[in-house]
Amino acid sequence: MNYQIRPQSTDFKLGIAELSQLETWLNDNPAAIGIAVVGRSNVGKSSIINALFGKSVARVSKTPGRTREVNIFTFNLNQNGKLSDLPPFFLIDLPGYGHAEVSKEMSRKWNDLIGTFFELISPGILLANLQDARHPNQAVDQQFYDFLNNYTNSSILIFNKIDKLKTQKERAQLEKLKPILSKAYKSIRQMYFASAETKQGLPQVESALIAHLLEQVEIQKHERENL
Ligand code: GDP
Repeated sequence: MNYQIRPQSTDFKLGIAELSQLETWLNDNPAAIGIAVVGRSNVGKSSIINALFGKSVARVSKTPGRTREVNIFTFNLNQNGKLSDLPPFFLIDLPGYGHAEVSKEMSRKWNDLIGTFFELISPGILLANLQDARHPNQAVDQQFYDFLNNYTNSSILIFNKIDKLKTQKERAQLEKLKPILSKAYKSIRQMYFASAETKQGLPQVESALIAHLLEQVEIQKHERENL
């Protein structure tokens, strides 16, 4: 059972900017399985997605006008180097938070969109929150987790740009933050150190993602059998 994300297999499905459209998609896909990625702007979300899935995804999400949308893609897994017979999974690129220049109107829109997303999203979607390893747990990251506390979703936290931590002391500080964050934010299931630049830590993130996907496939199979 040797699964990997199939390189360059992502397929852009739709970009959603309107609440009603998001509600429709979420209601139509109650059993979606996949991953949703969110983080402060400039944290390296596009770079991590590129490194894990291939370049075409971030190109779409960075198109002017799409940066504020919920961008939905599908992707496949390979099994032993060949396309697996599992159905496609979802990759959901959520609009970033903590932009320097946002109007009240825009942040209200983000809250509405993301609130609805977490309220209605399938339990089969794993949330991955990205933070900057050099500047972890910023005020906007804390606000995001406080916001997430209103919902039941579990998440993984990926500290990106780990290559920028040059000293042992900086690494030790980040290590020390882990238990503090898991205590403060119940939704965090696991934390990873990674670098989109050096690819360090990405195999662990990929394994965690694949384990989640396969687990959800099994859960849904059991649910269908028990109907
Ligand atoms: P996004 O706004 O969150 O999608 O961030 P981007 O992927 O566009 O990255 C923002 C900046 O951070 C770019 O200049 C990237 O080259 C840089 N960056 C992203 N990931 C890493 C990383 O792991 N290490 C380093 N050193 N730089 C990174």
